[in-house]
Amino acid sequence: MFDRTIRHCRQCGQAVERRVPDDGDTRVRAVCPACSTIHYENPLNVVGTVPVLGSRVLLCKRNIEPRWGKWTLPAGFMELGETTAQGAARETVEEAGAQFEIEDLFTVMSVPRVGQVHLFYRARLTSDVFDPGHETLQAQLFEEHEIPWDELAFRTVRETLLRFYADRRAGLFGVHSFDIE
Ligand SMILES: [Zn+2]
Repeated sequence: MFDRTIRHCRQCGQAVERRVPDDGDTRVRAVCPACSTIHYENPLNVVGTVPVLGSRVLLCKRNIEPRWGKWTLPAGFMELGETTAQGAARETVEEAGAQFEIEDLFTVMSVPRVGQVHLFYRARLTSDVFDPGHETLQAQLFEEHEIPWDELAFRTVRETLLRFYADRRAGLFGVHSFDIE
């Protein structure tokens, strides 16, 4: 999704080298040739919600790149100092200005191609009034047959919505953990 490759040392600003460190590590890392700092690059968590009001699901039309103008569930990068559920709730407030109660974890998806893990919680909306932030052009409730499947921003959103409707038809919501290539 984003290029966050380290190019300069976070300690001293020198251009880093890409090599296997001398400490027994087996992976190529960004190593500073000046101060020897090894920079470890690890996956980021993206956290969000499936906000539901009766039979309808809330989607947000993105006002930011990537995928400007496409529809998404409210989600974003987890911040330091918060739990996954707190992050999911915060993103739902920031992107939709929604009022809701957060419910159970619903999907956990590894996306190794972009170095991310996406987690979505179900959320029960308590109001149909939204106050979207600057990252959202429009926040709108959709019935299942109205979902803009061809205009969804991310594969993880599509996969989460597919499982949401399948579970709803089955009458039982589980937790779904799977990988996206
Ligand atoms: Zn350095």
